[in-house]
Amino acid sequence: MTEKKPVKMDQKDLDFFEALLAERRRELVAAQTDSENTNVFHSQKDQGGELAGYSNHLADAASDYTSLETNFDLAAREGKYLVYLEEALQRVKNGTFGICKVCKNLIPKARLEAVPTATKCVDCKEETKRKEREDSRIEMARLFAEQQRREQKM
Ligand SMILES: [Zn+2]
Repeated sequence: MTEKKPVKMDQKDLDFFEALLAERRRELVAAQTDSENTNVFHSQKDQGGELAGYSNHLADAASDYTSLETNFDLAAREGKYLVYLEEALQRVKNGTFGICKVCKNLIPKARLEAVPTATKCVDCKEETKRKEREDSRIEMARLFAEQQRREQKM
């Protein structure tokens, strides 16, 4: 059967992620008020292996500086991660959490456990990344051409 019913995560999964997000937020706020540790993310507890999946993921993406996951890490250091957590909690409340904002399919739970603030499935994330790379290449080419024109005038 291919009937289209609205995609929504099971309530028990929503509850699980709500707890996970609340825990991350609590840790983050504690880390921020605790000390002026420059790297909030790495100062978070390493035990439990909870972040291991994320770390591996980050290692995969580390070579790609346009990676969303890398931006996510930078955002964490800037404290924007807290905003992402708040937004994710908001999505839990209105039932849209875990739904890819591009293709509207459910994001695999394993990915959400690693990156609970994710708003896209891996496929859509890759697609966005590819487009961003393309855009930045076009922008670079444009700037380069502009520079060349300017140099020719001199
Ligand atoms: Zn998607």
